[in-house]
Amino acid sequence: MEKKCAYCRKPFEPGQEINSTLLLIRGAQLAREDRKYCSERCASEDQMAHES
Ligand SMILES: [Zn+2]
Repeated sequence: MEKKCAYCRKPFEPGQEINSTLLLIRGAQLAREDRKYCSERCASEDQMAHES
């Protein structure tokens, strides 16, 4: 797996990644996906991008 932020695509420093579980809605189904981000900000921005 590539060491890149799932949101901004920047490569992160070793040990700097933030693990977050993203909730995705696929049709009527709720899915969870583990992703890695460079910061808490990217984690919340990505989550917001999938909520609507
Ligand atoms: Zn990022």
